[in-house]
Amino acid sequence: MDKVNVLGVNFDNKTFKQFQNEFVNRMNNHLSTFVVTANPEIVMAANENPEFMKILKEDADYITADGIGIVKAAKMLKKPLPERVTGYDLFTWLMKLANERGLRVFLIGAKPAVIHAVQAKIAKEYPDIQLVGAENGYFTEDLDLVARRIQRTQPDLVFAALGFPKQEKLLSILRKNATPALMMGVGGSFDVFSG
Ligand code: UDP
Repeated sequence: MDKVNVLGVNFDNKTFKQFQNEFVNRMNNHLSTFVVTANPEIVMAANENPEFMKILKEDADYITADGIGIVKAAKMLKKPLPERVTGYDLFTWLMKLANERGLRVFLIGAKPAVIHAVQAKIAKEYPDIQLVGAENGYFTEDLDLVARRIQRTQPDLVFAALGFPKQEKLLSILRKNATPALMMGVGGSFDVFSG
């Protein structure tokens, strides 16, 4: 079984390693790839918000089980998922890969002080990353304008830490425009990464 449906959300039945291999492949081929790391809160929210559910069903290329709660629910439904694959673990792995390969990275989200601290950490510990954008998540423009600005920087990787569903809404616009990047909503990851 390729997909495991938990309350209407189709999770990919893959290990962390399998996701890594597929993401590297898609990045090598410059394919537009939208990854959602869905925790139980996201599944519940999608069930209450049809627009959010539509994004998960129609726009996401991959949905990972972000949390043991999803893995347990799948097991109870007798459609087990192999393991938990968190946004934070994928984020830190992709940042290392970006540094090794000198990739173009766009970051958007979190409070101004947090995004500044993230920038400083990247300059020190990930010096070969090409940081093409680092913006806080408290903008007032509409998401289409923000998406266009991101696209113009020609990123290889886009991480949005705006909380759900805002981060997924923004990335779904980039995905609909076929932006050739791997993009992922990372919730509170910048706060953790900066600390
Ligand atoms: N955030 C943001 N803009 C907003 C709302 C939230 O940048 O308009 C940031 C917030 O500062 C935090 C991140 O989004 O860094 C995740 O927020 P939260 O922990 O509420 O979301 P979750 O991790 O539950 O998705």
